[in-house]
Amino acid sequence: MHPFTLERPRDLPAALAFRPQAGRNDAPVEYIAGGTDMVQLLQENIRRPDRLVSLAGLLDNRIEVGPQGLRLGAAATMAEVAAHPDVVEQFPVISEALLESASPQVRNQATMGGNVLQRTRCPYFRDVGYEACNKRAPGSGCAAIGGENRWHAVLGTSDDCIAAHPSDLAVALVALDAAVEIEGADGQRTVPLGDFHRLPEATPHIETVLEPGEVIAAITVPANPAARRSHYLKVRDRASFEFAVVSAAVVLEMDGAQIRQARIALGGVGTKPWRVPRVEAALTAASLDPVELRSAAALAAEGAQGRGHNDFKIELMRRAIVRAVEIAGART
Ligand code: SF4
Repeated sequence: MHPFTLERPRDLPAALAFRPQAGRNDAPVEYIAGGTDMVQLLQENIRRPDRLVSLAGLLDNRIEVGPQGLRLGAAATMAEVAAHPDVVEQFPVISEALLESASPQVRNQATMGGNVLQRTRCPYFRDVGYEACNKRAPGSGCAAIGGENRWHAVLGTSDDCIAAHPSDLAVALVALDAAVEIEGADGQRTVPLGDFHRLPEATPHIETVLEPGEVIAAITVPANPAARRSHYLKVRDRASFEFAVVSAAVVLEMDGAQIRQARIALGGVGTKPWRVPRVEAALTAASLDPVELRSAAALAAEGAQGRGHNDFKIELMRRAIVRAVEIAGART
């Protein structure tokens, strides 16, 4: 591990005063909040800051539910949000996505902001023994293309990176049209979560629209009565502490036995949390009949590209959508 100095600023403005030295890759200054991903990245020698600036105690950790919807302070923990009675009742897809993530110990420590900023689990990114990783070392190539790519994305990929986005929470939030409040040099700005993560294209090392030195202040979710009828379905290799092979977050507004509106996002298959508007459109006015659901779900594969080991994800994501819609539709 690269040696670093831990800075403990007294307040957020003092923390943000470090921003001129902060950056995206190999910056001399990095911020740390819950630290559950950052500590791994430090141990794995993927991040090598000279100074680590602690945001502990400096960020909002409140969970607020009102007529406008839900506001999650950036420092609220996964465990706190998952267990919050209003989240469980009004936004079950969020609670389910969180409880299907990580372990109880990690959920007690990891924060909302850190969760949506966590780095990919691509094994070539996580092991500096592999030289070719454009995300870790821009311009070095991609060991996963042509290598072991069972865990990798089939949607939103590029010739430079096919890494899947790892967050379950972000998938649920994208389905709910959430937004990110960002604290930066020029004050606050708000970005829809669907626009927050970037496609890899030719610059996979730039993963979000956060500018160097900006931090996440909160995540907001608009009020949506339909969110009570929502579900997060996660397919994974083992029952706990495992990342998604494929996941589907579904929010359904029903009109009797007919779907009035569906919101669907996928995880494990995209280089970012992946909304499927064509599937949503096809489900409008559909019933929960399996034939209709399968026909709509087939549209999710538009533009999908397997790389060999991950070809199975294309069929699996269709099936995950059908199952998740059936489960959400059966809820009252
Ligand atoms: Fe690196 Fe992306 Fe290729 Fe993985 S898929 S080796 S993260 S460039």
